[in-house]
Amino acid sequence: MDSIPLLTDKQLIDVLNLTKVATAIHVTEDAVIQTANQAMLDVWGKDSSVIGKSLEAALPELKGQPFIDMFKRVWNEGLVISGTDTPADLMINGELKTIYFDFEYRAVKDEAGKVICILHTATDISERYFGRQREQTLMEELATTNEELAATNEELASMNEELSVTNEEVSESYAALRELNDNLAESRNELSFAIEAADLGTFDLNPKTGKFVGNARLKQWFGLGADDEIDLANATDNIAEEDRQRILAAIDEAMSFRSGGTYDVEYKIIHPHDKKEIIVRAKGRTVFSDDQKPLRFSGTVQDITDQKRREQYKDDFISVASHELKTPITSLKATLQMLDRLRDNPGDPAIAKLISQANRSMNKTTMLIDDLLNASKVNSGQLDLAKTNFLIAELLRNCCSHIRAEGRYHLNIEGDLDLRVYADEHRIDQVVVNMVNNAVKYAPDSFEITLRIDKADNFARISVIDHGPGINPENVMKLFDRYYRSEHAGAQFSGLGLGLYISAEIIKKHGGKIGVDSELGKGSTFWFTLPL
Ligand code: ADP
Repeated sequence: MDSIPLLTDKQLIDVLNLTKVATAIHVTEDAVIQTANQAMLDVWGKDSSVIGKSLEAALPELKGQPFIDMFKRVWNEGLVISGTDTPADLMINGELKTIYFDFEYRAVKDEAGKVICILHTATDISERYFGRQREQTLMEELATTNEELAATNEELASMNEELSVTNEEVSESYAALRELNDNLAESRNELSFAIEAADLGTFDLNPKTGKFVGNARLKQWFGLGADDEIDLANATDNIAEEDRQRILAAIDEAMSFRSGGTYDVEYKIIHPHDKKEIIVRAKGRTVFSDDQKPLRFSGTVQDITDQKRREQYKDDFISVASHELKTPITSLKATLQMLDRLRDNPGDPAIAKLISQANRSMNKTTMLIDDLLNASKVNSGQLDLAKTNFLIAELLRNCCSHIRAEGRYHLNIEGDLDLRVYADEHRIDQVVVNMVNNAVKYAPDSFEITLRIDKADNFARISVIDHGPGINPENVMKLFDRYYRSEHAGAQFSGLGLGLYISAEIIKKHGGKIGVDSELGKGSTFWFTLPL
């Protein structure tokens, strides 16, 4: 053993002092520093002058901290006290700093169990501690951020939901808008269809320029070219002279704010090329600016020529009807006055003549009233047919007894005398009587009147033939119109111009045809057919 060189105590301590672990040895309960290696001195922030001093004297900043007491207990009770992550406030380079340690104070005992020193080891874990602390804070921050993120996420999700609802609403509104748009386009199309169907002209005037736009119908009526804009002056040139000034004044009036901007007039247009005349009704309205200036004047024009003609016919008809009714009533009145004078002479032979004269007047009045009633029935669509099966020749034989009785005219019946039809006998009788009456009225010198029955295909054709003056071919088409009477008829013959119109309606209702073949100077054949 002698050959092995042993280190002295001092050497041993010097070697020990080289360890990286901070190490110190304390003695007594005041923890007097026996030795402290460099690592421990670094921890403490002191130099070797602390060696030999009590802990309290060496590190006065430890006063009030638990360590000095711990050393006391370790010394007195022979304990080991250790701690981890324990903070200690130490004065380092003149500055009080909190350092974190893992430490151990270990009582070192002799063989008898008596404490001889305290082995003090310490590791500065401030780095680790703060690292962990930072980690912790970071974790906490992360957790908070995470929480915030989750909240944000939730908000986003609900926003997303709202957005998708809004999106749905938007797409619904869009669809509705599209539908509205389609409807609008459609109604515009309808509208223009309606304008076309109603045969309306339209105009839209710019008061500033005096130019206006019109549809094709309007241009056609005014004989204007197809180019879009029309000059107001050009257009009004085609208004009939007698109406022109009145219409220009009405347009001016419609464009003045105080008039309220309405326009409703009737006037005649004379086509510049073919000179055709039409009567129109124009209605319009002006739109004014805030300062009461006319911005646009637009409206529609309607051809009312037929309507005007019908109104004229009606007016004429009423005067004819009154006149026609007045004639037999006047003669009836005269006859009755004469009868009155003969009241005291009951045996006077004139009385019988006067009575039959009064009857004739009464019959005329009754016939006129019947015509009026029948015409109004036809007009209101109340002409009902009561059909039966009958022999046409039989009907012709029995009709017109008033004419036969008079004996002036001879009624010939010829043709297919066995032909039967399924029709309204009373109404067909009315048609035949009207034709025979007309023959007597308008061909008074043709004493032979022929009633003819023919079978043609699936129709029975019945004709009333006279040898009178005949009818002007120009007028043939109009005879069956309501209220038509040829000009001479008004003066010479009584009648309302309704007989042939009513007849035509009766035949139409049976599914047959009605017409006339006539030659001026030779006579007329009025005919009608009935389906078999
Ligand atoms: P009304 O006899 O009341 O005038 P109608 O409708 O029966 O009405 O006849 C229409 C017109 O047809 C008559 O006004 C007459 O001018 C013409 N007319 C009818 N029958 C004859 C006839 N047989 N010959 C010539 N003209 C006729």
